[in-house]
Amino acid sequence: MDLTDLTLLQASAALAKGGTSSVDLTRACLKRIEQLEPTLHAFLYVAGEKALAAAEEADRQLERISRSTSQESPLLGIPVAVKDVLVVADLPCTAGSKILEGFVPPFTATAVQRLQAAGAIVIGKTNTDEFAMGSSTENSAYGVTRNPWAPGRVPGGSSGGSAAAVAAHLVPAALGTDTGGSVRQPAAFCGVTGLKPTYGRVSRYGLIAYGSSLDCVGPLARSAADAAVLFAVMSGRDPLDATSADMTVPGIDLAEVRQASPLQGLMIGIPDEYFVAGMQAEVEAGVRDAIAVLERLGATVVPVSLPHTEYALPVYYIIAPAEASANLARYDGVRYGPREAGEAMWDVFYRTRGRRFGPEVERRIMLGTYALSAGYYDAYYGQAQKVRTLIRRDFEAAFTQVDVIAAPVAPTTAFPIGAHAGDPLAMYLEDIFTLPANLAGVPGLAFPVGFDGTGLPVGMQLMGRHFQEDLLLRVAHAYQQVTDWHRRRPMRETA
Ligand code: GLN
Repeated sequence: MDLTDLTLLQASAALAKGGTSSVDLTRACLKRIEQLEPTLHAFLYVAGEKALAAAEEADRQLERISRSTSQESPLLGIPVAVKDVLVVADLPCTAGSKILEGFVPPFTATAVQRLQAAGAIVIGKTNTDEFAMGSSTENSAYGVTRNPWAPGRVPGGSSGGSAAAVAAHLVPAALGTDTGGSVRQPAAFCGVTGLKPTYGRVSRYGLIAYGSSLDCVGPLARSAADAAVLFAVMSGRDPLDATSADMTVPGIDLAEVRQASPLQGLMIGIPDEYFVAGMQAEVEAGVRDAIAVLERLGATVVPVSLPHTEYALPVYYIIAPAEASANLARYDGVRYGPREAGEAMWDVFYRTRGRRFGPEVERRIMLGTYALSAGYYDAYYGQAQKVRTLIRRDFEAAFTQVDVIAAPVAPTTAFPIGAHAGDPLAMYLEDIFTLPANLAGVPGLAFPVGFDGTGLPVGMQLMGRHFQEDLLLRVAHAYQQVTDWHRRRPMRETA
């Protein structure tokens, strides 16, 4: 058997039984990475030797545990990949940008550190749009990642490397980040399960900041049950992030769903605003079919309205660039990464920033700086913040009637590489269904619910009340117990 066939929980069970070792599992992942990386380019850095050393240590711990009665950790010995906007001590970190070329951080992001403390093994850093700005990984300064289902297509973004790595079985699970959809949309495009937690649920310490009031760290995996394991381990209050919430994660028990109607009593809202003219018919059909499955599992489906949805896109593309323009001021060629030579201090700043930021990052900095400038602040940033409140209230009102909201993740399946080249607005439109959850701070979960006519995955999104990720995971888990979309896999023949 090929060990890369195993899901996270299956691998974990195999390790606990002594059926395999973490070293074997890590070797199997490294071998598959070596085979498929020339096609996919999911990784920016593979930490082969460090991962194997960590796997040896995990094997020693597994050995000790098997001789004691202590509870085993489901992550002990499991290889994971980490999006290259989360720092891991002593592994190069670029955020997909030439301005951080060669930068090696001296510390580890809290989310990653918690996974490592639970025994997970960081196998490498995955490709991302530069500073997580984009929806396709085409904005990476180090080349595009390809979709494992169709190498001429994008994997989505900005966590495209993580999504492709999980879909192609290079790793059982990975971390991504979601500021406006960057976990959910690539999960949908690659046919995997991705969770954007509630804002504040997972520490942002060690996450290279994009839009600080929106950024969330979330897991990508091949099932809701696997995603739940990573989520539970990495969430919780962190004194190093003042916005992290002091909310303990409720025990997420996703044991086999045995009753015929596991969703009995659950109210699911369907927002009209998320089924827009012009969206791909197969996406709408896939999502509606999945909703019908949830109904068969006992849920009650009712229409809801989120009337300010249409403003989410303009509001996001003011707030996110505004925050980005402030966050990216720190890259000046002095504190991090390479420095372009110059006569005076200002020359160093101009040249380093001028030569090393890519075009999309420059666009965001200019948009954000403009929106924050004196005279325009109230008209743009101030207004956007007010409308953001209205968007959050839409969700609050809807969640007085329903427990979860079901919607598409993106209006289309994965688009061809280059399809939106030179048209930033067309790229921004990819985010219309994912941005609102970030603006409202609510959790969102994407998971596969079918395929389009060309064999590309279709994803569905569930959104929930603040801090109710466990409910979203339970609903998706119930769905995955009676369907097998999440078990389909691309590139099998190359295994
Ligand atoms: N595509 C969106 C953007 O470019 C969202 C990216 C993200 O979530 N990091 O800002």
